[in-house]
Amino acid sequence: MKVQLLPSTIETDGTAARRQHFSCIVIDDRVAVDAGSLAFACSDTQRQQIRDVIVSHVHLDHIAGLPPFIDDLYSTLVGPVRIHGTAGMIDALETHIFNWTIYPRFSELTNAHGKVLEYVTFTGGREFSCGHLSVTPIAVNHVPESMGFIVSDGNVSVGITGDTAHTDDVWERLSDRGDLAAVFVECAFPNELAGLAAASHHLTPAGLSEELKKFKRGGVPIYVVNIKPMFRERVIAELADLSISGLTAAEPGQVFQF
Ligand SMILES: [Zn+2]
Repeated sequence: MKVQLLPSTIETDGTAARRQHFSCIVIDDRVAVDAGSLAFACSDTQRQQIRDVIVSHVHLDHIAGLPPFIDDLYSTLVGPVRIHGTAGMIDALETHIFNWTIYPRFSELTNAHGKVLEYVTFTGGREFSCGHLSVTPIAVNHVPESMGFIVSDGNVSVGITGDTAHTDDVWERLSDRGDLAAVFVECAFPNELAGLAAASHHLTPAGLSEELKKFKRGGVPIYVVNIKPMFRERVIAELADLSISGLTAAEPGQVFQF
């Protein structure tokens, strides 16, 4: 399984920055988990192949790249882009994004080949098929309704927590996966901003170390994503201070092969 954390921010010289404003993880160049930077940072191959987007929650940094991704492809699609979300997430996208004001309601539009956007509803705790993958959504502790995921290609699986504060189910389920190759976990704020992290339902390095006590799979690498860009260096330094084996920050653009 190939997993890439797409970059989201550009340095003044035009190269991808380490700062991560948006969240988008692409699996096997074909399925996107969240779409924060999807339209802006995907490769040509990914743009041609990705027709399934799984939404963890509808915060803007996780969906910003979705409307322009479909817009860009609109006239060339021979099948719809499928957006996988809970009923509540889909309702929020239709009400607040694809509402004819912020952007066209693509779900009501067709091109020469038919539909360009199709919603596929999933329910927390119930595994569903998505392209060549099996995906189990697990409710996590973030507002609004948010999901983490276990994504399997039949050989290996990876865990993606999405945005979350302290939570139990996802760690329990990940601990049970014998085929688990890696976990991508959020850690948004430095320890000094624990109050802000709690108010916004995110983790700090200290909070993450508490979370990882519930994860019973030593040896599985843990990659930290969704670090608030302003605090990236401090969070990474505080993560290093934890001295937890296998815990590192993922770099925007980084490709993992499992
Ligand atoms: Zn969020």
